[in-house]
Amino acid sequence: MATITFIGLGNMGGPMAGNLVKAGHDVTVFDLSKEAVAALVAEGAKTASTAHEAAKGAECVITMLPAGKHVEAVYLGDDGLLAHLPAGTLVIDSSTIAPETARGVADKAEANNILFLDAPVSGGVGGAKAGTLSFICGGDESTFNKAKPILESMGKNIFLAGGHGAGQVAKICNNMLLAILMAGTSEALALGVKNGLDPAVLSEVMKQSSGGNWALNVYNPWPGVMEAAPASRGYEGGFLVNLMNKDLGLAFDNAVKNHAAIPMGSLARNLFELHAGQGNGTLDFSSIQRLYKPE
Ligand code: NAD
Repeated sequence: MATITFIGLGNMGGPMAGNLVKAGHDVTVFDLSKEAVAALVAEGAKTASTAHEAAKGAECVITMLPAGKHVEAVYLGDDGLLAHLPAGTLVIDSSTIAPETARGVADKAEANNILFLDAPVSGGVGGAKAGTLSFICGGDESTFNKAKPILESMGKNIFLAGGHGAGQVAKICNNMLLAILMAGTSEALALGVKNGLDPAVLSEVMKQSSGGNWALNVYNPWPGVMEAAPASRGYEGGFLVNLMNKDLGLAFDNAVKNHAAIPMGSLARNLFELHAGQGNGTLDFSSIQRLYKPE
């Protein structure tokens, strides 16, 4: 069992840190939100008053923060963790950020002989709670092998996509496809319901047919079809529209840099931005259904 510091206890980080505690690791947590910290302390984690204090003595530091600017603020600069952690510390960032930001953090880590892995996740809040996340890693193989037993306490599928930043590239591709699938699923459900179909029946038909996809299987966007999905609790919690827009922005920027065509991704980005502009930024991303079925 390892001595682990976990920073960023939001919708994803909270249950991920909870699973590390359950697995028997010695876990110290830190977040700017006192409520988030208190919830983990109640589950058996320790805490400290700053990220630096929390990271003292850690063999492994894991971060799960909203965006690249938060990751840079925690790790880089004279005040950043990388300037203070001992050589040999394993550092895993599971936030979804730009590949070049991850590479910048990796370069700084390497310069200080710290082992860095970008390890964004897929599987949503449900996967974080159940400990069934997919980790999509970027880094060298020996660091990956060192991190794997720790990641297995929080996830089921642990992939090495390539070198530093490769985990983020794969994650951005995945989330762009997810946005397209969620918007398309919402559109199909709304069309069926306009024609008098029961959304639950239509969902079952499409799930077992060639339109089947992850949104239909575990994250149905129509309220009431799937009890455990955010759609059935007013689209609260889950993966925020604002975070999906951040990821679609990362995909768009990356496509521009690489002269890659992403017409479907660009359209999905337009739809999610329009939806956020209508005051839905802090709802779960499956609330894109409301664009097609105003409540
Ligand atoms: P969230 O907003 O719920 O949580 C982020 C947490 O980080 C908050 O508790 C916040 O207080 C904390 N924080 C911010 N800056 C901090 C700092 N400097 N020091 C300490 N704590 C700080 O976000 P989330 O939904 O948990 O997502 C986290 C990351 O995971 C994002 O990059 C997101 O894109 C990605 N992700 C989310 C999901 C999902 O379903 N929610 C799925 C896969 C990936």
